Amino acid sequence: MSTFRLARVAGLIALLILPAAATNAEPKANQLFGAKDTASRQKSQPIGFYSQGCAAGNVELPESGPTWQAMRLSRNRNWGQPVMIDFIKDLSAYATTVGWKGLYIGDISQPRGGPMTSGHASHQIGLDVDIWMKPVSSLRLSRRDREKISSINVRAENQKSVNGNWTAAHAAILKKAALDPRVDRIFVTPPVKIEFCKTASRKDRKWLQKIRPIYGHNYHFHVRLKCPKGSKGCVTQKPTVNELSKGKDGCDSTLQWWVTDYLNPPKATKPAKPSKPAPKKKSARDFTMEDLPGQCGAVLSSR
Ligand SMILES: [Zn+2]
Repeated sequence: MSTFRLARVAGLIALLILPAAATNAEPKANQLFGAKDTASRQKSQPIGFYSQGCAAGNVELPESGPTWQAMRLSRNRNWGQPVMIDFIKDLSAYATTVGWKGLYIGDISQPRGGPMTSGHASHQIGLDVDIWMKPVSSLRLSRRDREKISSINVRAENQKSVNGNWTAAHAAILKKAALDPRVDRIFVTPPVKIEFCKTASRKDRKWLQKIRPIYGHNYHFHVRLKCPKGSKGCVTQKPTVNELSKGKDGCDSTLQWWVTDYLNPPKATKPAKPSKPAPKKKSARDFTMEDLPGQCGAVLSSR
């Protein structure tokens, strides 16, 4: 190899290595938040956005209660803002009125919120919770059971409808959650939304707007709460076009997006032009402290 070529190769290698070294120098926020196993001793406050923030003064959801059990305890994600803990207690109590013993609770947030080393882009400010679709069979599950047991799928194989696991109790619990003024939106597998669109009464459909179809979410539903009053550092989610046009229940757009566009994509008439790839958005897993609101530093360093 000529000296010239050698120098070029060396230059290329340096180009490849240097940016990596530079990003390695800055610790990832998910490692920092993931290392904290207790809440910050601060006034409770969600800080930032659901997918880019942290949580001051989170509260631990007791691992077991009269109407709930937290699952996958090894993850230590049964922490949330007080409004979230109250909401979970209330909804799980309601579940007992429709024939369930309560609710199995999946991830809420880490003790101090923040980005996570695995799973979820959101769940960062203590206002998101995953609730299992599996009806509660026992509230006396051991820690080991809670690692091993799986939830159940409510989506049919053709992906267009719910399957036999879907019950009137599921529908009642989800509707109750949607009617709760603390709730901003609920993410579900599209067939659940389609089922609601078919079965909801014509006069009582306003709450349907809060039920949002999204990929996955056939083993659990995800409840997102609004920023509580007075929490100035909390960034409210922008309403979608749907929400802005009053009275819309989102049923047409769900069917359009999921059944028509996603499951049966229209055949392209012309070959699509290769378009420039959109600039890649930084994922929550790559965030450093600089990507989070400034107050998150104090959340992390608090006792
Ligand atoms: Zn979730």
